[in-house]
Order: sequence, then structure tokens, then C-alpha cells
Amino acid sequence: MPSPPLLSIVVPMFNEEAVLPLFVSRLRPVADGLGVSYEVLAVDDGSSDATAVGLQRIRREWSQLRVLRLRANAGHQAAISAGLDRALGDYVVTLDADLQDPPELIAEMLRVAQQQRVDVVYGVRSDRSSDSAFKRGTARAFYRSMNALAGTGALSHAGDFRLMSRATVDAVNALPEYGRVLRFVVPALGFPSAAVPYRREERAAGSSKYPLSKMLRLSVDSVTAFSLAPLRFATYLGLAGGVLALLLLVYALYARAADHVVAGWTSTVVVVAGMGAVQLLALGILGEYVGRLYAAAQARPSYYLAYDSLEAARRREGVAGREEFTERDAPSPSA
Ligand code: UDP
Ligand code: MG
Repeated sequence: MPSPPLLSIVVPMFNEEAVLPLFVSRLRPVADGLGVSYEVLAVDDGSSDATAVGLQRIRREWSQLRVLRLRANAGHQAAISAGLDRALGDYVVTLDADLQDPPELIAEMLRVAQQQRVDVVYGVRSDRSSDSAFKRGTARAFYRSMNALAGTGALSHAGDFRLMSRATVDAVNALPEYGRVLRFVVPALGFPSAAVPYRREERAAGSSKYPLSKMLRLSVDSVTAFSLAPLRFATYLGLAGGVLALLLLVYALYARAADHVVAGWTSTVVVVAGMGAVQLLALGILGEYVGRLYAAAQARPSYYLAYDSLEAARRREGVAGREEFTERDAPSPSA
């Protein structure tokens, strides 16, 4: 039985059959060239295409490839979480499967982590010209407003390409938060960190698995996880509405006293509609937070694991092999 690897490379994959061969042919030489023991943890996020078959085929020739399969599509963040829960390495790198995050950077990340003795090394996108203008625009607005609202200290343009120490991964795994957005959770830990810039490349094959709906979900999860500002915004809106109502009341009383009662239909409609909209907005904001509380109270796992190739291999080897690294490998509460 081999000892735990130094490095785990966690890769979430959702219907990535098109990019899988390209990804493997680029990652493998990099990983082999690191000169350290490693495992590549491919997390098949409930793909419905040939990703699972492809992974099994590649695994036959690449013993360091370990395959996790989730029972159903759980989403990018949950897929990474599944990998983090199960990774064995002293360092864990997470990167996308579509080669937008260059695997070659892993070597530098590891070097920086070891030399500067930091817990986290962020990959920071210095050039996003390969992303669409829409993606860049929304991303900029997203990071700006997150920093304004929550002051998370997250580096703008640091996505989910990062290296984390074992201590960081354990800390993250101990936060069983609903809808956890790792790119903000990790900096919020405040562990010593460094950053390495890289050029965001074009998706090598296939199409984006992040439709607008998922982007919106990620934004709402990020904001509500780190900031109460929207709730306060609702309060301020309510206050402003109250002041306006008072002024209107004064005016109404004056108009009545002066005996020129206004026809008043327009103003009534405007006030009713305006207040209605503000109330709905405030309710909606409240609902997001109540929803988070609800989800947290339900404490449903964010993913369900169907298969871990390492576990399957150990089972085949018999009970003796299972004694090793039981502690780290024990199913976590969220598994
Ligand atoms: N992904 C996933 N589950 C999902 C959506 C995406 O595991 O439900 C993976 C996907 O396979 C890829 C990474 O998350 O490795 C980033 O997705 P994508 O490249 O489609 O997002 P984009 O770069 O367009 O924002
Ligand atoms: Mg991508």
C-alpha cells in the first residue's frame, strides 16, 4: 500500500468528454515532471456523457488517476468540495478540466508554497481576454460588489485555481456551510497566502457548463454567505420610504386644510406601486437569508458520492489494505 501522496490535484468534471483527452495529455507530463508523489482526483459531477467511461479507460494506464463519481450533478463548488473531502495529499490543487487554468502553473504554485511557507497560493488571472466581454464584465461587477459589500479580501480574478495546504483543506472541510463558495471561504480563513499570475486561456474543447442561472446562483450564494449589507439595504429603503410617507402625510394634511384636495389618482398609483415594489424587494432579500437558514437547518449533504476508485481498489485488495489512512479517508459528514 503506498503512503499518501504529497500532492492531490482535484478536477471537477461535468460532461467534459470532449476536453478529457486533451486535458490528460497536458496534465500528465506536468504532474509526472513535478518529481513528487501525487494523485489526480477527477470528480465526475454526475456527467451524462462519456466522461465516466473515458476516465476509467485512462485510469488503466495512469495509476495516479483516482476517480470519484457523484450520483447526481451537484455543481462546480460541490464537486470541488467532494474532492477536498477525499483528497489525501499534503497539498491540494484545484483546477478546471477545460484547460482554462494552465496545469503548468502547478509546479510554480507548489514551489511558492514550499519556499515561502504559505498555506494558500492563488492563481490570479492577469489576462482574461480569452473570456467573452460579457463574462469579463459580469465577473468584474461580481468581484467589485463582493469586495464592497463584504470586504472579503478575496483577490479579484482569483477563481478556483489554487493550491492549499493540508491545514487549509482541513479547515475548509470543517465548514459544512450550505452553498459554500470556496473562492471567498478560503481567503476569509486569513491563512498566509501568496499569488501567482497566469493567463486565462480559452476553453480547449466543449462548451461552458456555467449557464447564466448557475452564475446568478453563485453570486447570490457569495453575497448572502458573507454580507448582511443587503438586509441593511432593505432597512434603509424602508427608512427612506417612511420619510417619504411622512412628507406626503404633511402635504396631504396641508392640502386638506387649505381645502384644495388633489385629484390624486396618479400620485396614489405611484405611491402604491412604488411601495409594493420596495416591499417585495425587501421580502425577497429576507427570503434569501431565511432560505440559507432553512437549508442549513436541513443540513442536506451538498453531494452524494457514488464511487471512489481508491476505495474500490482497496476493497478488492481485502480488509488488510483498509487499515491505512483511515482517519483522513473516513467518510466526512457531508459525504
Ligand atoms: N463543472 C462541474 N459541475 C457543474 C458545472 C461545471 O463540475 O455543474 C466543472 C466543469 O466541468 C469545469 C469547471 O467546473 O471543469 C468549470 O466549468 P466551466 O469551464 O464550464 O465554467 P466557465 O469556465 O465557463 O465559467
Ligand atoms: Mg471554463
